[in-house]
Amino acid sequence: MQPPVIHWFRRDLRLSDNLALDAATRSGQSVLPVFVYDPAILRSPHVAWPRLKFLLASLAALEDSLRRQGSRLLFRIGPPDAALAEIVQQSGATAIYANRDYTPFALRRDAAVAARLSIPLHSFDDALLVAPGDVLTEAGKPLTVFTPFKRKWLTIPKAASVDAPTAAQFIPASWIDALDAGSAGTFTQGIPLDRAADLRDFTDHLTISVPAAGEAEAQRRLAAFLSERVYSYGDGRNLLPAQSADDTDPSTSFLSPYLRFGMLSPRQAYWAAREAYRAAETETGRSGVESWISELVWREFYMHILAHFPHVLERNFKPAYDRLEWRSAPDELAAWKVGMTGYPVVDAAMRQLQALGWMPNRARMIVASFLTKDLLIDWREGERHFMDWLIDGDPAANNGGWQWSAGTGTDAQPYFRIFNPVSQSQKFDPDGAYIRRWIPELRDLPAEAIHAPWEMAAPPKNYPPPIVDHALARDRTLAAFKAAGG
Ligand SMILES: Cc1cc2nc3c(=O)[nH]c(=O)nc-3n(C[C@H](O)[C@H](O)[C@H](O)COP(=O)(O)OP(=O)(O)OC[C@H]3O[C@@H](n4cnc5c(N)ncnc54)[C@H](O)[C@@H]3O)c2cc1C
Repeated sequence: MQPPVIHWFRRDLRLSDNLALDAATRSGQSVLPVFVYDPAILRSPHVAWPRLKFLLASLAALEDSLRRQGSRLLFRIGPPDAALAEIVQQSGATAIYANRDYTPFALRRDAAVAARLSIPLHSFDDALLVAPGDVLTEAGKPLTVFTPFKRKWLTIPKAASVDAPTAAQFIPASWIDALDAGSAGTFTQGIPLDRAADLRDFTDHLTISVPAAGEAEAQRRLAAFLSERVYSYGDGRNLLPAQSADDTDPSTSFLSPYLRFGMLSPRQAYWAAREAYRAAETETGRSGVESWISELVWREFYMHILAHFPHVLERNFKPAYDRLEWRSAPDELAAWKVGMTGYPVVDAAMRQLQALGWMPNRARMIVASFLTKDLLIDWREGERHFMDWLIDGDPAANNGGWQWSAGTGTDAQPYFRIFNPVSQSQKFDPDGAYIRRWIPELRDLPAEAIHAPWEMAAPPKNYPPPIVDHALARDRTLAAFKAAGG
């Protein structure tokens, strides 16, 4: 058999519209599909069980798709440079194809692989519609404010989607079985969900159940969202849904976990949205689709920011706020994490996070504002907690969301705009259905009382009073930001 080329899957767990995989097939050689699990990632504090569980389910779905093509995934666990060197040596592969990731960790990893191997590593900008470096000012500088970024982004032509490879373009499963037989110290049978759990103590998170994974499920969700809900997304996206994301569909797409692991490409999302725009029958419908495309641009914006300014993962984007004095308040932080702050909308969202590994954007903004502005606790604490639970946890979007909410980021909301958790609740959960869904203690409260139960003549005994007075907290935060030079 002619030597193959390797497609190294990372956060692009799909066969359709995969730019590196498509380029690999166009080499004219057969493609050997590989996934390498890096134990350094597994042991890293940035990896959470909900996300790992969803990743492993995604790998199982990918493996199924490959089996249907008569092939399979070659799965290895080990440092990627060493694991790939072994595979190259065993298979005689002449090149590696992979899609670029923009975190500092991924860039270091890819550099180590390229340095170690004697064959080329071809990289592709598949995770974004427009690559970092292609959205710049006239002077060639990154655009650090969203609106001008989006304006420029919209003018840049977008690549079309590409087809999935055919069965004949992959290495047959039997050949990959033979490679496995010749390798020592690797996982050879299926996806090691149980063994992954052995490598790290994830006991806090083991109850979480993750949604169905895989590219077919991502396409189903995309089609369902774009056939109807996108047309009312303009208003709907901010409403806090009573149902969980997976009971029935929420008002947003719930595609973030699928985009996070590349079960859906941004091109597939974008071109399908353009189609939905053409099919829209009303101005409201068209504006719903435009708002949704705007969210896809936010996703790109934060990835560009991380690629250009990797320091944001450790520090404030705006250095002036390095002087800000955050409070150390471990009890309040703990109450926030478990949903016991006494502010129902905050607590509902935090409990939803621990049940589903997900919450809607409006809820994320409310709880992030509460932590950083009401409790004056460092956004990095919240960022870490989110990464510990989110199935869509993504360094770029999460960091961007947290720095935006804290007022320390690129395109931050001004620090003096502080969310009032009660009016947010009244506006976006008017009947209290979201609160009732996640806080059983408040299930029987009438809508008028549910947003601020401490104001009742006899508040529920099994639910805490507020841990902070919002009006006082607001003044404290304004003073702290002013003192830092805000
Ligand atoms: C504090 C905070 C932390 C966040 N952390 C993450 C995270 O770790 N991972 C993540 O994917 N998103 C994060 N977001 C952004 C946003 O909340 C989620 O992408 C969104 O709630 C996912 O739900 P959906 O798929 O139904 O979104 P939809 O409303 O259907 O939007 C479609 C897609 O656009 C992208 N998107 C939407 N809003 C944003 C945004 N503000 N920033 C970047 N991308 C966006 C997502 O990929 C999303 O799937 C965070 C926001 C905040 C305020």
